[in-house]
Amino acid sequence: MTSTTMIPHSRPSIDQQEIRAVTEVLQSGHLAQGAVVERFERGMAAYLGLAGGVAVNSGTMALEVALRVLGIGPGDEVILPSYVCAAPWQAVQRVGAQARLVDIEPETFQIDADLARAAITSKTRAIIVPHLFGLPADLTALARLGVPLIEDCAQTLGATEQGRAVGSVGTLTVCSFYANKLLCAGEGGMVLSNDSVLFERARALREYDGAPSLIPQATNLKMTDLQAAVGLAQLDRLPELLERRVSLAREYRVALAGTSAIVPAVPAGRSHIYYRFVVRTSKRGSGADELRACIGRLERAGVQCRKPVFRSLHRYLDLDGFPASEAAEHDALSLPLYPSLADEEVAQICMAMRDEWRRE
Ligand SMILES: *Cc1c(COP(=O)(O)O)cnc(C)c1O
Repeated sequence: MTSTTMIPHSRPSIDQQEIRAVTEVLQSGHLAQGAVVERFERGMAAYLGLAGGVAVNSGTMALEVALRVLGIGPGDEVILPSYVCAAPWQAVQRVGAQARLVDIEPETFQIDADLARAAITSKTRAIIVPHLFGLPADLTALARLGVPLIEDCAQTLGATEQGRAVGSVGTLTVCSFYANKLLCAGEGGMVLSNDSVLFERARALREYDGAPSLIPQATNLKMTDLQAAVGLAQLDRLPELLERRVSLAREYRVALAGTSAIVPAVPAGRSHIYYRFVVRTSKRGSGADELRACIGRLERAGVQCRKPVFRSLHRYLDLDGFPASEAAEHDALSLPLYPSLADEEVAQICMAMRDEWRRE
């Protein structure tokens, strides 16, 4: 099958609301961090049911600030999964702490709570819990470990685990508003908490001036009102954007019924909002070559696919003992799923998926 149009793996969902909001900021004469950033912080905190939030310039810096406000530094250990982007690991390095990597649950791609428990030592100060692809991690089991959780909600908002919303359970929650995320602002991030002491500490780290004392770690991490205007418009549309994602995932599941593809697992008690629709090829464990070939065939059918995690951390670091992350590296691929897909594009994706996974 040949096709002339390539459907991109991700694309932001921007409409007149965002355009109007940015135009208003441009016309206001105030572009830097100001009243719109404050409104965005209050809006995000209200959405997550938390007391407050502090907007920063990226999710990566939000993670670093979260570690700093917990007083984490040299001599401390932070647990995180191997199967995630490099940003959380790099944040741990920058504060001078030691990262302890653990494997993921084999079916869900989320951090394995039993392995996290086994990695706890007297030096453990926090667990970074990314909720990957739109599915919550096992928050109930993780919350029982008695270690502060930093929920990384860069990929998941609006999903629940045992009735609790992601982002509402941890000591701190971080978000990313990068261009390809659920709720985008171009770039940006936020640190949120129910503990005003913690988010006031975060606020003091965000600017070089403005605190009564000189803080060596403080730096310019500010978001602009232009970005916050986009973020606020997206937040307003978020329920509708998430609903569209869930309905697209339902269509993909129907298209894949009866094929050899393994569709996303959703354990009992968790809901999925499909930031990514990650399929596992049925030739499980057949290796990187087969996955590359599969991605190539889908791309020739006009459907751009990606490995959902660029490279597991244990592979960069040459560590053994991460079989579930290793399997995901070899058989998981992410298909385009986002609210701005046109009906014809959805039909093209469904047909390409059926063709690919019917072949065995
Ligand atoms: C995108 C992402 C980040 C980093 O956010 P940026 O805004 O790109 O710095 C961190 N963690 C996860 C899970 C992400 O998906």
